[in-house]
Amino acid sequence: MNPHDDTTTATRAATATTDTAATTNTAATATPTTTATTTATTGPTGPAETVVRLEGITKRFGATTALDGASLSVRRGEVVVLLGLSGSGKSTLLRHVDGLERPTDGRVTVLGREVTALTGRALRELRSEVGFIFQQFELVPSLTVLENVLTGSLATVRGPRLGLWSYGRAAKTEALARLERVGLLERAYQRADTLSGGQQQRVAIARALMQRPQVLLADEPVASLDPESSDQVMALIREIAADEGLTVICSLHQVDLALSWADRIVGLRHGRVVLDTPTEGLSKAQVMEIYGRVATSTDQFEAIELELATSGTPGTTGTSGLAGGAANVTDGAVR
Ligand code: ADP
Ligand code: MG
Repeated sequence: MNPHDDTTTATRAATATTDTAATTNTAATATPTTTATTTATTGPTGPAETVVRLEGITKRFGATTALDGASLSVRRGEVVVLLGLSGSGKSTLLRHVDGLERPTDGRVTVLGREVTALTGRALRELRSEVGFIFQQFELVPSLTVLENVLTGSLATVRGPRLGLWSYGRAAKTEALARLERVGLLERAYQRADTLSGGQQQRVAIARALMQRPQVLLADEPVASLDPESSDQVMALIREIAADEGLTVICSLHQVDLALSWADRIVGLRHGRVVLDTPTEGLSKAQVMEIYGRVATSTDQFEAIELELATSGTPGTTGTSGLAGGAANVTDGAVR
C-alpha cells in the first residue's frame, strides 16, 4: 500500500465533502463537537463526566499518518462506535486510549490521567481499568474457559500462573459469576478452542470484566462472527455497559450493528474524525451516506449505492441527507 496515494485520496475526498459538511454543521446540537483543533473538546456536561478524551491526536508510522488530528470525548456510560474502512485508524485510536501507542502529537486523558505522561506502575494501573477485547478473541486455546477468564484477574500481576490451583477461591468464584453473566457457566471446564466464535468472544468479555474495568475497548469484536452471533455479542456488551456503568468504545465496520447498538457513531477517514453524531433518530440511509463519504474507492461507492438502492431509500452519496441536525460533521477539510 502506498501512503502517498492514501493522502492524495484523503485530500480529494475531504475537499469533495466540504460543502456538505459546512451545511450540516450549521445545525449543531447538544452533541459534543470535536474539531480538528485541540481546543473545543469539552463535552456539554463538563469535564467531570468525560472519561476518555483525545485532543488533536496525530500518529505517524514512518511515512504513514494513521491518525491526523483526531479528537474525541466520551462520557461515562456511553457506548461509542468507531466506524470506518480498513486502514482509517480505528485500531490505532483505540490503542492510544490505554497507552499501547504514544501519539506523535496531541494529548490523551483517560479517567482523569494523562496517558501520555504515564509509565511503569502508573501505566499498568491505568490499563487495569481499561479492558480490551479483540477480533480474534486472543484466548489461550488449550486452557479451559474458566482458566482463560481467570487470566483477566492478572492485569496488574506479572508472570504467568500455572493451572487453576494457583488462583484463589475468591477469584474462581468471581470468574464463575462472570461466566454466568455471559451465559457460559456450563462451559467453564471445557477447552476454550471447543467453543464457537461467538462463545469465545463472550469468554473474552468475561475475562475483560475480571479486571473490573471502567472502560471497555473493543476492536472489531464481531468481525469474525456470523450475523446472529454478532448481534448477541453486541447486545451483551451493551447490557453489561448499562449494568456496570461501563464506558465502551468499539470499532465496527457494519452500519446496521452500529445503528442498533451505539449511542453515538464516530466516523473515521484517513485518521480524521469526519463524523460524530448520536444514533438516535438516524436512519440507515443517512449512515450509509456518511459511510459513502468514508469510502475511498469507486468499488466501495458502488457497493454502498447498491445497498442503498436495494434497501429502497432515496439517498445517494454526495447529497445532504442529514437534515434535522442530528450530525456534526467535523471534517478537518479546511486545513
Ligand atoms: P483500522 O483499524 O481502521 O483498519 P489501523 O489503525 O490499523 O486502521 O491503521 C491505520 C493506518 O496506520 C494504516 O495505514 C496502517 O497500515 C497504519 N499502521 C497501523 N499500525 C501500524 C504500525 N505499527 N506500523 C506501521 N503502520 C501502521
Ligand atoms: Mg483495525
